[in-house]
Amino acid sequence: MSLSLFLKVHRQLPISRNIFHCISTSQMSSTNPAPRPNTTANTKPSSKNPSNKNSSKNQSKTGKKKSNTPGEEHLLLPTPPSSLGIVDTHTHIATTYSFYRQRYKEGKYENVFDFIKAMYEGRNVEAIVDVWCEAPVQKLWKTFADSALTPEDRQSHWGGIEYWFALGVHPHDAKHYTDAVEKDILEAMAHPRCVALGEIGLDYHYDNSPRNVQQTVFRRQLKHAVRLEKPLVIHTREAEEDTERIMKEEVPKDYKVHVHCFSDSPEFAARLLAHFPNLYIGITGVITYSSNTNTSAVISQMTSASPSEPLRILLETDAPFMTPGNLYASLPASLKGKKLPLCHTAMIPWTAEFVAGVAGEGWDVDRVMREGRDNARTMYGV
Ligand SMILES: [Zn+2]
Ligand SMILES: [Zn+2]
Repeated sequence: MSLSLFLKVHRQLPISRNIFHCISTSQMSSTNPAPRPNTTANTKPSSKNPSNKNSSKNQSKTGKKKSNTPGEEHLLLPTPPSSLGIVDTHTHIATTYSFYRQRYKEGKYENVFDFIKAMYEGRNVEAIVDVWCEAPVQKLWKTFADSALTPEDRQSHWGGIEYWFALGVHPHDAKHYTDAVEKDILEAMAHPRCVALGEIGLDYHYDNSPRNVQQTVFRRQLKHAVRLEKPLVIHTREAEEDTERIMKEEVPKDYKVHVHCFSDSPEFAARLLAHFPNLYIGITGVITYSSNTNTSAVISQMTSASPSEPLRILLETDAPFMTPGNLYASLPASLKGKKLPLCHTAMIPWTAEFVAGVAGEGWDVDRVMREGRDNARTMYGV
């Protein structure tokens, strides 16, 4: 089966069990400043506009309420606050596309490559690190990675962006970790487009796997990463002491580490940054959420301690869910009260803009973008 046919057949990619892996549903519903006053009653979906098909259909069938989902053309986004090169250091492409298909059943992008090319067009996206973290390992990783082997492949399938990936078993799926799963991880580590092992770690917020199992599986994968000299992508949530202890025991001090989608305490971040000189804190759109002040506090802590030093952060989306809240201010007024159902790589300049605001004097969005870009190169070689 050709690749394009394969992906057409697989329009409905399986939604990952880890779909809410980084944030809680309460965080998702309390974005700041996203929730403007709800004025959907004044928003008339035009029946002439095919992109409003979903919402008008919902309206006429149920006669109750209008869809809160903007037409899919709004995924293409307005002018960003910075036009510098974008590297998304942590994204889940298969899940994002799958979610797109679910939310826009009549959506125009028939396969994942058409979707990505449309979303990234004209956005100066240079590179992405796509993350696979399920157990059993999704075989689709190889289809994606093989489609990015040569510059010609990357041009035709990925619109010229540098596609890279990381793979490992998420703490949620630790209970499904087996020798066979480990064999699949090791196979992926040998692929030329693989830049890291992860995301792996501990998540005591959801406790989807027993904590002792999470710890065993975390250690096991850390040992393999260090043996193979693969950089690490760490997922940690409400498990500060155990994450810190296990990492200090298993990981050399000078190791390259990306603690992604950070939302734990600033003190924890400070301890990790002090111990591991090549560790970076991953910043997603969650920094813009009113329910989370920790991530902003981490930025303030960095800039007040050393104002002229580069930020030790990596910019990421962890797509598909954490749309930066400040993006809504740039969207047309007619979308007031509506929420984009998914985020994607081209939203990173808004996250950078928010970071610059938190960082304060001497900072602007371009500086954050530049430093984030440089750190992505240092961390992943991308
Ligand atoms: Zn995560
Ligand atoms: Zn993730």
